Amino acid sequence: MHDKIMAAIGKISNQPIRYLANTHLHTDHTGGNEAMAKLGATIISHDNMRKEMAAARGANAAPMAALPLLTYSDTLTLHFDGEEIYIYHPAPAHTDGDSIIYFRHANVMHVGDVPSSLRYPNIGVADGGSVDGMIAAARQVMTIANPQTKIIPGHLGPVVGFSEIQQQIAMFIAVRDRVMAAIRAGKTQQEVVASKPTADFDRGRLGGAITPDRFVTLVYQDLVRKK
Ligand SMILES: [Zn+2]
Ligand SMILES: [Zn+2]
Repeated sequence: MHDKIMAAIGKISNQPIRYLANTHLHTDHTGGNEAMAKLGATIISHDNMRKEMAAARGANAAPMAALPLLTYSDTLTLHFDGEEIYIYHPAPAHTDGDSIIYFRHANVMHVGDVPSSLRYPNIGVADGGSVDGMIAAARQVMTIANPQTKIIPGHLGPVVGFSEIQQQIAMFIAVRDRVMAAIRAGKTQQEVVASKPTADFDRGRLGGAITPDRFVTLVYQDLVRKK
Protein backbone atom coordinates (compact mmCIF):
# COMPACT_ATOMS: atom_id res chain seq x y z
CA MET A 1 0.00 0.00 0.00
CA HIS A 2 3.04 2.31 0.33
CA ASP A 3 2.67 4.00 -3.06
CA LYS A 4 -1.07 4.51 -2.58
CA ILE A 5 -0.52 5.97 0.91
CA MET A 6 2.18 8.32 -0.37
CA ALA A 7 -0.08 9.47 -3.20
CA ALA A 8 -2.90 10.17 -0.71
CA ILE A 9 -0.57 12.07 1.64
CA GLY A 10 0.81 14.00 -1.35
CA LYS A 11 -2.64 15.48 -1.91
CA ILE A 12 -2.52 17.01 1.59
CA SER A 13 1.10 18.03 2.00
CA ASN A 14 4.50 17.81 0.34
CA GLN A 15 6.36 18.03 3.66
CA PRO A 16 8.48 15.05 4.75
CA ILE A 17 6.84 12.45 6.98
CA ARG A 18 8.45 12.81 10.40
CA TYR A 19 6.51 10.33 12.51
CA LEU A 20 4.62 7.12 11.89
CA ALA A 21 2.57 5.60 14.73
CA ASN A 22 1.77 1.88 14.51
CA THR A 23 -1.54 0.78 16.03
CA HIS A 24 -0.29 -2.82 16.51
CA LEU A 25 2.10 -5.39 15.11
CA HIS A 26 -0.07 -7.18 12.50
CA THR A 27 1.64 -6.97 9.12
CA ASP A 28 -1.38 -5.36 7.43
CA HIS A 29 -0.58 -2.38 9.71
CA THR A 30 3.25 -2.52 9.79
CA GLY A 31 4.19 -3.87 6.34
CA GLY A 32 5.02 -0.35 5.15
CA ASN A 33 7.30 0.50 8.08
CA GLU A 34 10.58 -0.13 6.30
CA ALA A 35 9.60 2.02 3.30
CA MET A 36 8.50 4.85 5.63
CA ALA A 37 11.70 4.56 7.71
CA LYS A 38 13.75 4.90 4.51
CA LEU A 39 11.97 8.21 3.89
CA GLY A 40 13.15 9.34 7.33
CA ALA A 41 10.01 8.73 9.42
CA THR A 42 10.51 7.94 13.12
CA ILE A 43 8.33 4.94 13.93
CA ILE A 44 6.41 4.96 17.22
CA SER A 45 4.74 2.02 18.98
CA HIS A 46 3.79 0.62 22.33
CA ASP A 47 6.66 -1.19 24.16
CA ASN A 48 5.03 -4.61 23.75
CA MET A 49 4.56 -4.20 20.03
CA ARG A 50 8.24 -3.54 19.40
CA LYS A 51 9.29 -6.37 21.71
CA GLU A 52 7.17 -8.87 19.80
CA MET A 53 8.13 -7.54 16.41
CA ALA A 54 11.84 -7.77 17.30
CA ALA A 55 11.41 -11.34 18.59
CA ALA A 56 9.66 -12.63 15.43
CA ARG A 57 11.68 -15.16 13.44
CA GLY A 58 11.37 -16.92 10.09
CA ALA A 59 8.68 -15.73 7.71
CA ASN A 60 7.39 -13.22 10.29
CA ALA A 61 10.78 -11.63 10.96
CA ALA A 62 10.74 -7.87 10.40
CA PRO A 63 13.65 -6.00 8.77
CA MET A 64 15.71 -3.92 11.24
CA ALA A 65 14.51 -0.63 9.71
CA ALA A 66 10.86 -1.64 10.31
CA LEU A 67 11.29 -1.72 14.10
CA PRO A 68 9.94 1.30 16.00
CA LEU A 69 12.61 3.74 17.23
CA LEU A 70 10.41 5.32 19.87
CA THR A 71 8.26 3.29 22.27
CA TYR A 72 6.09 4.14 25.27
CA SER A 73 4.31 2.28 28.07
CA ASP A 74 1.10 4.21 28.92
CA THR A 75 0.71 7.37 26.87
CA LEU A 76 2.73 9.66 24.63
CA THR A 77 1.84 13.13 23.35
CA LEU A 78 3.28 14.78 20.24
CA HIS A 79 3.06 18.56 20.00
CA PHE A 80 3.10 19.34 16.36
CA ASP A 81 2.00 22.28 14.18
CA GLY A 82 -0.44 23.46 16.84
CA GLU A 83 -1.92 19.98 17.10
CA GLU A 84 -1.78 17.78 20.18
CA ILE A 85 -1.52 14.14 19.18
CA TYR A 86 -2.31 11.87 22.09
CA ILE A 87 -1.25 8.22 21.74
CA TYR A 88 -2.41 5.78 24.40
CA HIS A 89 -2.34 2.08 25.12
CA PRO A 90 -5.64 0.41 26.01
CA ALA A 91 -5.29 -2.67 28.23
CA PRO A 92 -4.74 -5.74 25.96
CA ALA A 93 -7.60 -5.70 23.45
CA HIS A 94 -6.91 -6.61 19.82
CA THR A 95 -3.31 -7.50 20.79
CA ASP A 96 -1.30 -6.70 23.93
CA GLY A 97 0.57 -3.89 22.18
CA ASP A 98 -2.24 -1.74 20.79
CA SER A 99 -2.06 2.02 20.36
CA ILE A 100 -4.92 4.43 19.73
CA ILE A 101 -4.09 7.82 18.22
CA TYR A 102 -6.18 10.90 18.94
CA PHE A 103 -5.74 14.27 17.21
CA ARG A 104 -7.28 16.44 19.92
CA HIS A 105 -7.84 19.67 17.99
CA ALA A 106 -9.00 18.03 14.76
CA ASN A 107 -11.07 15.68 16.97
CA VAL A 108 -10.10 12.64 14.91
CA MET A 109 -9.20 9.28 16.42
CA HIS A 110 -7.61 6.26 14.75
CA VAL A 111 -8.48 3.12 16.69
CA GLY A 112 -6.55 0.50 14.71
CA ASP A 113 -8.31 -2.84 15.01
CA VAL A 114 -10.11 -2.15 18.29
CA PRO A 115 -13.80 -2.57 17.37
CA SER A 116 -15.44 0.36 15.70
CA SER A 117 -16.29 -0.50 12.11
CA LEU A 118 -19.35 -2.48 11.23
CA ARG A 119 -17.52 -5.61 10.22
CA TYR A 120 -16.94 -8.44 12.66
CA PRO A 121 -13.72 -7.53 14.45
CA ASN A 122 -10.63 -9.67 14.44
CA ILE A 123 -9.35 -10.67 17.90
CA GLY A 124 -5.62 -11.41 18.08
CA VAL A 125 -6.14 -14.40 20.40
CA ALA A 126 -2.55 -15.54 19.78
CA ASP A 127 -1.16 -12.01 20.27
CA GLY A 128 -2.52 -11.25 23.74
CA GLY A 129 -5.94 -10.03 22.55
CA SER A 130 -9.25 -11.00 24.15
CA VAL A 131 -13.01 -10.44 23.93
CA ASP A 132 -13.18 -8.69 27.30
CA GLY A 133 -10.20 -6.53 26.35
CA MET A 134 -11.94 -5.48 23.12
CA ILE A 135 -15.07 -4.49 25.05
CA ALA A 136 -13.06 -2.54 27.64
CA ALA A 137 -11.07 -0.72 24.96
CA ALA A 138 -14.23 0.21 23.05
CA ARG A 139 -15.70 1.67 26.26
CA GLN A 140 -12.46 3.55 26.92
CA VAL A 141 -12.61 5.06 23.41
CA MET A 142 -15.92 6.64 24.43
CA THR A 143 -14.40 8.17 27.56
CA ILE A 144 -11.46 9.74 25.67
CA ALA A 145 -13.30 10.70 22.47
CA ASN A 146 -16.59 12.62 22.41
CA PRO A 147 -19.79 12.21 20.38
CA GLN A 148 -18.47 14.55 17.66
CA THR A 149 -15.14 12.71 17.23
CA LYS A 150 -14.51 11.20 13.81
CA ILE A 151 -13.41 7.66 14.59
CA ILE A 152 -11.34 5.91 11.91
CA PRO A 153 -11.38 2.11 11.94
CA GLY A 154 -8.38 0.09 10.78
CA HIS A 155 -10.47 -1.79 8.23
CA LEU A 156 -13.36 -1.31 5.85
CA GLY A 157 -16.15 1.17 5.87
CA PRO A 158 -16.61 4.81 6.70
CA VAL A 159 -15.57 6.99 9.61
CA VAL A 160 -17.83 6.11 12.56
CA GLY A 161 -19.13 7.63 15.79
CA PHE A 162 -20.36 6.48 19.19
CA SER A 163 -23.51 4.72 17.89
CA GLU A 164 -21.44 2.25 15.85
CA ILE A 165 -19.17 1.59 18.83
CA GLN A 166 -22.18 1.02 21.07
CA GLN A 167 -23.56 -1.45 18.53
CA GLN A 168 -20.26 -3.31 18.50
CA ILE A 169 -20.16 -3.47 22.30
CA ALA A 170 -23.75 -4.79 22.44
CA MET A 171 -22.91 -7.42 19.80
CA PHE A 172 -19.73 -8.42 21.64
CA ILE A 173 -21.50 -8.83 24.97
CA ALA A 174 -24.39 -10.87 23.50
CA VAL A 175 -22.11 -13.20 21.50
CA ARG A 176 -19.67 -13.58 24.40
CA ASP A 177 -22.47 -14.59 26.76
CA ARG A 178 -23.97 -17.07 24.27
CA VAL A 179 -20.62 -18.68 23.48
CA MET A 180 -19.68 -18.84 27.17
CA ALA A 181 -22.99 -20.53 28.04
CA ALA A 182 -22.41 -23.08 25.25
CA ILE A 183 -18.87 -23.78 26.48
CA ARG A 184 -20.19 -24.33 30.02
CA ALA A 185 -22.79 -26.70 28.57
CA GLY A 186 -19.93 -28.75 27.09
CA LYS A 187 -20.36 -27.76 23.42
CA THR A 188 -17.40 -28.15 21.07
CA GLN A 189 -16.06 -25.35 18.86
CA GLN A 190 -17.72 -26.94 15.83
CA GLU A 191 -21.08 -27.13 17.58
CA VAL A 192 -20.87 -23.54 18.76
CA VAL A 193 -20.00 -22.24 15.27
CA ALA A 194 -22.80 -24.34 13.73
CA SER A 195 -25.34 -22.85 16.19
CA LYS A 196 -24.78 -19.39 14.53
CA PRO A 197 -24.73 -17.29 17.71
CA THR A 198 -24.25 -14.06 15.70
CA ALA A 199 -27.30 -14.60 13.44
CA ASP A 200 -29.34 -11.65 14.75
CA PHE A 201 -26.32 -9.33 14.27
CA ASP A 202 -25.37 -10.43 10.74
CA ARG A 203 -27.67 -8.10 8.82
CA GLY A 204 -25.99 -4.99 7.41
CA ARG A 205 -22.49 -6.07 8.42
CA LEU A 206 -19.64 -5.32 6.08
CA GLY A 207 -17.73 -8.33 4.73
CA GLY A 208 -13.97 -8.70 4.94
CA ALA A 209 -11.76 -11.49 6.19
CA ILE A 210 -13.69 -12.03 9.43
CA THR A 211 -16.84 -13.95 8.51
CA PRO A 212 -19.44 -14.65 11.22
CA ASP A 213 -18.05 -18.21 11.58
CA ARG A 214 -14.48 -16.95 11.88
CA PHE A 215 -15.54 -14.40 14.49
CA VAL A 216 -17.35 -17.05 16.56
CA THR A 217 -14.27 -19.28 16.31
CA LEU A 218 -12.08 -16.50 17.73
CA VAL A 219 -14.54 -15.79 20.55
CA TYR A 220 -14.66 -19.51 21.37
CA GLN A 221 -10.85 -19.83 21.35
CA ASP A 222 -10.50 -16.90 23.73
CA LEU A 223 -13.25 -17.95 26.14
CA VAL A 224 -12.45 -21.66 26.27
CA ARG A 225 -9.09 -20.93 27.92
CA LYS A 226 -10.80 -18.83 30.62
CA LYS A 227 -13.50 -21.33 31.42
ZN1 LIG B 1 -4.87 -6.52 13.48
ZN1 LIG C 1 -5.85 -5.23 10.70
